[in-house]
Amino acid sequence: MMRTIATLGPENSFADIAARIYAARFDETPSIRLMPSFKKVVAGVGEKIDYAILPIENMVDGSMQPVLDLLLHSRLTIIDELLVPIRYALIANASSRDGVHRIFAQIAAQGQCSEFLDSLPGCELITTQSNGESLLRATEGLPGCAAIVPAHDLANSHFPFIIDNITDYENNVTRFIVLAEQETAHDAGRAAKTSLVIIAGTDRPGMLSDILSAFSKRGINLVSIMSRPTKELMGKYHFFIDIEGHALAPDVQAALTEVRRCGFAKLLGSYPKAIEPAARPAATIITAIPSLQSNPFKVTAGQPQVFIGQGGDPYRATREALDSLDLSVAAGKRVLLKPNAGRVAAIGSGIVTNPQVVAAAIDAFKEAGATVAIGESPITGVDTAEAFENSGIAAVARERGCACIDMDRRPPVEVTIIEGVALYKTRVVADLFDFDIVVSMPVMKMHMHTGVTLSVKNMKGCLWQRSKIDLHMLPNIPYCKDKPLNIAIADMASVLRPHLAIIDGTVGMEGLGPSAGEPKALGVVVAGVDPFAADSIACALMGLNAAEVPHLRIGAERGLGIIDPGRIEVSPPDWQRLISPFAKVPADLTIQYPNVNILDENSCSGCQSTVLLFLKRYGHELAEYLPADKPVSIVIGKGHTSVPPNSLCIGNCTRQFRELGLYVSGCPPVASSILKTLKKNKEERGG
Ligand code: SF4
Repeated sequence: MMRTIATLGPENSFADIAARIYAARFDETPSIRLMPSFKKVVAGVGEKIDYAILPIENMVDGSMQPVLDLLLHSRLTIIDELLVPIRYALIANASSRDGVHRIFAQIAAQGQCSEFLDSLPGCELITTQSNGESLLRATEGLPGCAAIVPAHDLANSHFPFIIDNITDYENNVTRFIVLAEQETAHDAGRAAKTSLVIIAGTDRPGMLSDILSAFSKRGINLVSIMSRPTKELMGKYHFFIDIEGHALAPDVQAALTEVRRCGFAKLLGSYPKAIEPAARPAATIITAIPSLQSNPFKVTAGQPQVFIGQGGDPYRATREALDSLDLSVAAGKRVLLKPNAGRVAAIGSGIVTNPQVVAAAIDAFKEAGATVAIGESPITGVDTAEAFENSGIAAVARERGCACIDMDRRPPVEVTIIEGVALYKTRVVADLFDFDIVVSMPVMKMHMHTGVTLSVKNMKGCLWQRSKIDLHMLPNIPYCKDKPLNIAIADMASVLRPHLAIIDGTVGMEGLGPSAGEPKALGVVVAGVDPFAADSIACALMGLNAAEVPHLRIGAERGLGIIDPGRIEVSPPDWQRLISPFAKVPADLTIQYPNVNILDENSCSGCQSTVLLFLKRYGHELAEYLPADKPVSIVIGKGHTSVPPNSLCIGNCTRQFRELGLYVSGCPPVASSILKTLKKNKEERGG
C-alpha cells in the first residue's frame, strides 16, 4: 500500500521540500499531504498518515517552540531527521534594488534576511502569512513591489529583477524530524541520535547538573539542550535534550537509567543522525581571470598594430590578416575562439561570424601547434548548439576536430570588477579558465544601443547565461552623461579583454544592428592584439569615429587600449581606401513604421531585436490584427509606470500591464509569438 506523509503547507514551503526529500527515499514514492497547522500534521498519523514531518530547529532562529510543545504530549516517536538548506531570494517588479519601495515577506523570512532588509531602510515592509502569499502579492505586479521567497521558487520566475540569495547566513539549515507510530529497527552501523525530554517534577539544586553528568561521564556527546516553560508555574521548565548514540547502545542505556533516577524522562526517539549538508563552498569570487592577465602576442607599447585582410573569400582574407601576426607563441597552448554565434542566424546574414573566418583561425592556430575550441554563451532563449549549426560554424569545427562548447552548461565564476563604475561584479563562464589564449571574433555591426558591436563588446558572450542582461538593468550613474550600459561594457573589458581580435567584416550589418539591420558586404577581416585598436580601425572602415563610441572611448580613457587611429599602425598602409560607411541606426523608428509607437523604457537588446524583427517581418500585417485608424503602442522594458490602454506589451518586463492590453511573455519572446498573440486575439474577438 502506498505510504502517506503529512507536513505543513503550502506547496513549495520548506516543509514540503523536506517531505519530498524524505519521500524520495522510498521505492514507491509516498503521497504528500499538506496541512494547515502543526497539530493537523500529527493528528492523522497511525490512521491515514504514516509519517509526519515537522521543523524543529533552525540554525539561525533556534527551536520551533510549538513543535516542542507538541512533542511533550505526543504518542509518536521520532524515527528520522533531515537537514534542509534555507535560502531566500528577492524578486522584484523593478529594474534594480533602488527601484524597490515595498517588500512582502513572511515573518520567518524577515528574520532570516534581516541584514538585507536593513540595507533598504526606506522600503515599506509588509508582513504576510506565508511565502506563497508574498509571491502572489509580488506577482500582482505593481511597479516597485518585491517579495522575499524561497530560492527554490525561482525556477519559473519572470521578475525583471532577482537577487538569488539574500539570506543572512550562507549555510543556514532547518532540522526537520520525522514522526511515526512505531520506532524503526536500529542499524548499529549508522551514527544515531536520541532525543528525550526531562519533564519538570520535583526540583532540587544540582538536578540538571546530575542529568548532564550521566552523559558526560560516559563520553556521550550532548548535541543540544532546549528549555520550554511548563506554563504551570513561573520558573519551571521542561528540558529537551539531544544526545549522540542510540537508546539501545549499552552506554546510552546506562545513562538513561541514571537520568530516570534524577527526574521523569520521556524518550522521544532514537534515529539515524542526519548527514550535515557540506558547508556550501563560498562562491568562487576572483578579481581577475589569470590567463587574461598578460598577452603572449607581441605588443608594441603605445603603438598597436592592426592588420587587414581583404577580398571576396572570407577564408583567404582571414589568413591574410593573420599572416602578419606571430602565432608561434600559441604552440602547445589551448586557444578559445569566441565568435558571434549568439543568435540563430544563417551564413551571410551579417548577424553571426562567417564560418570560413572561424575555419581560417582554427587552421592558423592548429598550424602553429595549438589546440583549438570554439565557445559561445548566446543571448537568452537561444540554443547554443542550434546557433552553432545554423551559422555553419559547427560544420567547419567538426571537419577540423574542434569542440563547439556551450559555455552556459557549467556553473559560473563570480568576478569582482575592482575598476567597475557601473558594474561591480559579474559572472563569467567557467570555460575561460581552461584556455591560455582567448580570441574575440565578432561581426562588424552597428548596434542600436552601443553604436557598434565589435571585439570588445563581443566578450559579453563570455558572461554566463542571464548575467548579460544585468548590464542592461543598471541604474544611471549620478552626474554621468554616459549610459550605464556603455560604462558597464568598459567595466567588463577591464577583466575580459581578449588576447586577440579577429573582426569579420566580410559581411557586416548596418542600420538596426545587432540583428534587425541589413547585411553589408565589406570584404575585410581586421586582426589585432589590442582589441580597442582593432575595434577603432573597424569603426573607421564603417565610417565611424571610435571616440564617438562610448564604451570604446571610456575604455581607452581608462588605459585599456588605444583607439586613436593616429597611434595605430595599420597594414596595408593604404587601408583607408577600404572605408565604406555603414548606414547609421535610425534615430526615430516611427519614420520607418509610421503607425507604430515604440515605448521603450529600460529594455535590453533582446526585446528590441524581437520587436524590430517582428516589424520587419510582419509589420505590413499589423493592420489586419489591430485597428488601423489609431497608432499601435508597443511597450518594451521594465521602466514603465503606466502604459496607454490597448498597448501591445512585449516581454516579461511588461508583465504588470498584461491586463491593459495584449501581452506576449518571454525574455525575450520570439517575433513569431507576437504574431501568434495577435492572431489569437483577433479570433477571440470573432474577427
Ligand atoms: S529581454 Fe525583454 S523581457 Fe527580458 S530583460 Fe530584456 S527587456 Fe526585459
